[in-house]
Amino acid sequence: MNNLGNDVNNLYSRDGMSAEELFGKGDGMTYNDFLILPGYIDFTAEEVDLSSKLTKTIQLKAPLVSSPMDTVTESAMAIAMAQCGGIGILHHNCTPQYQANEVKKVKKYEQGFILDPVVMKPDHLVRDVFESKARHGFSGIPITDTGNIGGKLLGIVTARDIDFLKPDKYEIPLMEVMTKREDLVTGRSNITLKEANSILQHAKKGKLPIVNEKDQLVSLISRTDLKKHREFPLASKDSKKQLLVGAAISTREEDRERLHLLVQAGVDVVVLDSSQGNSVYQIDMIKYIKSQFPEIQVVAGNVVTVNQADNLIQAGADALRVGMGSGSICITQEVMAVGRPQGTAIYKTAEFAARSGIPIIADGGISSVGHITKALALGASTVMMGSLLAGTTECPGEYFFSDGVRLKKYRGMGSLDAMEANKGSASRYFSDSEKLKVAQGVSGAIVDKGSILKFVPYLIAGIQHGCQDIGSKSINQLVKMNRSGELRFEKRSPAAQLEGNVHSLHSYEKRLF
Ligand code: GDP
Ligand code: GDP
Ligand code: 5GP
Repeated sequence: MNNLGNDVNNLYSRDGMSAEELFGKGDGMTYNDFLILPGYIDFTAEEVDLSSKLTKTIQLKAPLVSSPMDTVTESAMAIAMAQCGGIGILHHNCTPQYQANEVKKVKKYEQGFILDPVVMKPDHLVRDVFESKARHGFSGIPITDTGNIGGKLLGIVTARDIDFLKPDKYEIPLMEVMTKREDLVTGRSNITLKEANSILQHAKKGKLPIVNEKDQLVSLISRTDLKKHREFPLASKDSKKQLLVGAAISTREEDRERLHLLVQAGVDVVVLDSSQGNSVYQIDMIKYIKSQFPEIQVVAGNVVTVNQADNLIQAGADALRVGMGSGSICITQEVMAVGRPQGTAIYKTAEFAARSGIPIIADGGISSVGHITKALALGASTVMMGSLLAGTTECPGEYFFSDGVRLKKYRGMGSLDAMEANKGSASRYFSDSEKLKVAQGVSGAIVDKGSILKFVPYLIAGIQHGCQDIGSKSINQLVKMNRSGELRFEKRSPAAQLEGNVHSLHSYEKRLF
């Protein structure tokens, strides 16, 4: 500030507006309707601390959550999200047993161990291994008596065993080409990665099957992975050093059994999956969980108004999931005539929930890293993403090609496609008992984005750069700047929005990282 004194103070306070002023007029606004004005930089982007609360007691080093959707989060996604400092919420469009098993997979995960390798039986054929190679990209396959993990280890087949076989040999059983148990180098189940590394080095092999005392296969280690072994300094872990994981359930009575299975499997946080969370069913479920499992964190929602938030906070919610109709695959606002633009929903609920120390998860409508920074600036503690993470290697489902583009399926949990696929999803959208289902989502496809292990670090770096431009060294500071009015915003006219995007080019290539 200079010697113009009060005058300058006035000019400062009239440059841009506070969040309160931005949202005080009653217009519904979302991410693209506004920008954050830059502040003063006296630190590097890497210094920006993105630690933030997911719930009352769970703190993450990166404010990123993957959505409980059946084309986004199963164990592979949850593991990768937790390794990168965020967390994954497992979907419930599956049986309770399946979902609980996914929780176990995350909880059992140890860096470097393949816990559910593709396994075959001795009477599988050479052709099956080639098929596996084409489908999954690897051909190192342990052979057990049952053809499953947990079966007695009988041998291993790798690329070298079958590469030079003539096609007329493709029909011979693996028994005849595999390396038999007596010649196999294996590791015991309590082995450390370092020991495994040294065994593989000495044996000059590419795979190390890990067996228990009964010689049953428990996992597989691949030299490829050891070579690319990386540390994950941000990893989200519990007190036993296992990765954190969440799981979604519905608010229906029968999901109490699901809840018990999930808790037994070691789930850290339960998300009550409902598109309109302000219901007696949800309040009953929150109270039930809190009475049975006081240590389990409960995320309630979805909500978009102060009144909805108030009810769920009073019932005992440890965090609120905010968003109605803002998801990329969502047609709720069109069909139900109900919802709220996401920017306003976040600001209003976060302002209210902060009084009780309840964090907000901004759910849906995030289509770029800038949207994440905006959601945090409006008071969200974390963001939940579907489409932004869909199309990555870790999402359920396989890639397919359409017009030469490599795609993965992405669908709304309220789409007819998802509701017909299984139970669970219909209940979120209150359509289960009705004969005629009313869709609240669509089904589509997303372009291959590569691995979460590369994509999430890009998101993290992007948020850090955004915070640096704003002049905020941490998410905590961002929240304080918001509350004090120091954080300045500005509305964007439609022309300003056009100007803010790439324009006036004949053609261009958009590479993000
Ligand atoms: P292979 O020699 O053809 O089996 O392939 P590589 O060892 O070069 O690469 C296999 C990659 O796939 C490694 O990164 C593994 O962690 C990964 N992978 C994931 N699931 C499996 C599985 O079920 N079996 C094997 N062999 N690899 C898997
Ligand atoms: P590749 O390079 O992907 O073919 O696989 P490996 O380096 O793992 O295996 C090389 C060869 O050694 C194959 O013929 C295996 O069947 C054989 N082999 C013998 N003992 C072992 C063992 O203990 N582990 C593994 N992985 N392969 C073994
Ligand atoms: P996205 O990140 O793709 O914009 O939005 C993901 C969010 O959309 C999910 O976390 C969930 O809250 C919401 N969602 C998922 N499926 C549906 C659906 O079928 N209908 C509606 N209305 N919302 C959905």
